[in-house]
Amino acid sequence: METVADIFGSKVFNLTTMKARLPKETYKSLVETIRKGTKLDPGVAEVVANAMKDWAIENGCTHYTHWFQPMTGVTAEKHDSFICPTDDGRVVMEFSGKELVMGEPDASSFPSGGLRATFEARGYTAWDPTSYAFIKDKTLCIPTTFFSYSGEVLDKKTPLLRSMEAVNKQAQRVLKYFNIETERVVSYVGPEQEYFLTDAELYKKRKDLMMTGRTLFGAPPAKGQELEDHYFGQIKDRVAAFMKDVDEELWKLGVLAKTKHNEVAPAQHEIAPIFSTSNIGSDHNQLTMEILKRVAAHHGLVCLLHEKPYEGINGSGKHNNWSLGTAEGLNLFKPGKKPIENKMFLIFLSAVIKAVDEYATLLRVAVATAGNDHRLGANEAPPAIVSIFLGTDLTNVLTAIKNGEKSTDNATPFLETGVDSLPTLRKDSTDRNRTSPFAFTGNRFEFRMPGSAQSISGINIIINTIVADALCDFADELDKADDKDKCIDEIIRNTIKDHERIIFNGNGYSEEWVEEAARRGLPNLKTTADALPEFVSEKSINLFAKHGVFSPIEVQSRYEILIEDYTKILHIEMLTMLEIAQQEITPACISYANSLAEGISVKKSLNIEVPSEVAVLKTISDGTEKLIEKTKELKEISKTIPEDDALETAQYYKNTVIPCMNELRAVADSLETVVSKDYWPFPTYTDLLYRI
Ligand code: ADP
Ligand code: MG
Repeated sequence: METVADIFGSKVFNLTTMKARLPKETYKSLVETIRKGTKLDPGVAEVVANAMKDWAIENGCTHYTHWFQPMTGVTAEKHDSFICPTDDGRVVMEFSGKELVMGEPDASSFPSGGLRATFEARGYTAWDPTSYAFIKDKTLCIPTTFFSYSGEVLDKKTPLLRSMEAVNKQAQRVLKYFNIETERVVSYVGPEQEYFLTDAELYKKRKDLMMTGRTLFGAPPAKGQELEDHYFGQIKDRVAAFMKDVDEELWKLGVLAKTKHNEVAPAQHEIAPIFSTSNIGSDHNQLTMEILKRVAAHHGLVCLLHEKPYEGINGSGKHNNWSLGTAEGLNLFKPGKKPIENKMFLIFLSAVIKAVDEYATLLRVAVATAGNDHRLGANEAPPAIVSIFLGTDLTNVLTAIKNGEKSTDNATPFLETGVDSLPTLRKDSTDRNRTSPFAFTGNRFEFRMPGSAQSISGINIIINTIVADALCDFADELDKADDKDKCIDEIIRNTIKDHERIIFNGNGYSEEWVEEAARRGLPNLKTTADALPEFVSEKSINLFAKHGVFSPIEVQSRYEILIEDYTKILHIEMLTMLEIAQQEITPACISYANSLAEGISVKKSLNIEVPSEVAVLKTISDGTEKLIEKTKELKEISKTIPEDDALETAQYYKNTVIPCMNELRAVADSLETVVSKDYWPFPTYTDLLYRI
């Protein structure tokens, strides 16, 4: 029988495969590029391409593709076969260095946020040797970046790599003052991915799920998540079989799938990998989402990645666990046994505190999508207000430093776990609070606002860049200082003083926090339409330009794509809702009312009085009238959507369309509770959530 060790990475052109198949010099040069991010020697590409091709063909491949992350949030691929005709009418399989390094898919159908108009339809893909090639569906997939003819970036990976470079550069400048030399400071990510499963046959009967990924109608089921019996509960056989296949597929692709469990809501689950570099972690999360969907189909299931498939039931997020470490394995957020004396830890912690406070709005932008608006602040996910949780132990340390004390003798002692790799902070001090948007969890930060369907590239671009910026300020100060040790102490103390408003250890779901946050002057950007304009603020544009992550034009184009995306999603939801209301729900209610009315009239002719049945009929007829009225209202609204200015359009959706959609839904949902199930046109919440 094949073991996990046998299959792990079997579909990946990883270091082991490279070493076995490449000449020594080529291998060495490629590893240099991968490890240090140095420029790739062009001569190397030809040799690598050939070895990759042979390996791929031996593994059954006929095609190759440049696999990239356009700005849509999903991944894109265009398949080319390896075949090359020969003079005698046959073919040989070929793949050149040029084909490996560069591709030219037609860029005109990918969103470019105005860049295409200004520049050219041409887009180019370029090999990213830092992320391994892999085999999917008999196709050799080569991770690539994607950019326009004039060099503007059209994807999510390039800026991610740039942001990793920025944080590497600034972190190294600071580390110098702690006498730490490193080849590279790397940002790491371990994303916890939540998702729902539902039966494929039921799904096909729900136009809303099919078109929008979420239910636009649906009365709450009798049993929701109140018993909390699903969380970490026993996994159903069908789901377990699905999870097993997902793990296997991911392992073959070299994804370190590690944890899987049931989540709080019925039919909700989570999968988490062991963390890896931001770049590989992001690629792997894209693959994970793809594999979840594909494997689900093999089991007659559908995997819903939407942030809020079901009203009234917890939505799905993606916890982005993030840290910085040196290539040699030193975690820069490890507090050690005496954090108060661990200046290096404290300065990196300070950088994060400063970054999150100064750029809270950008973190909010990072998670702004139409889907995620349903989650944030809805008592199931962190609020739209960004704050940091540090736990009592660390907060005590910071308070002591602020007050000029040298120790935290009065505070609760740190826990000695006896295991070096475990954080010395008390578990309950760091881990109990699940309501914080940005929580320190012992040796990393857990950003809990991201939505389940989002690409984590955009999120980590922002985290890396804002932390790079804070580190840059610190390094600038240190460069100038005469007494370096004193300067380090001052930086830490001043950061705590200037930014303590961002630290909050209480219940982030509570109403009091909303008020308290307002008193502290923390921004509360409730919706995507409110948040996105912050992306194009002067402060944001300058930040990205300073660290070479996005040019001003690139920020502007991304803003346009995000805002268009928001309105497009809402537009589709609105139209789908209208269709379902008119073509499915209204006719069903009318039919049911008619059948009731016929029965009543027969009974009346026989002198049988049925006042209660009449009352039911009246409720349904009244409800149906209301339904038709509300549908008409939404239809009218749909005709008056402003189109000249993207932000104005977005605000119109937020202020006018969404409230009307909610009203229409409320009428339909209350009808669902009184109309016979035989007449109701699609599966209910109980079906979708429990019939797996
Ligand atoms: P929990 O549910 O308690 O947050 P999980 O085990 O579900 O914990 O997920 C934790 C995630 O954090 C995993 O993906 C793990 O690999 C990741 N992680 C652990 N240490 C680090 C680190 N230093 N940097 C980034 N991610 C990390
Ligand atoms: Mg977690």
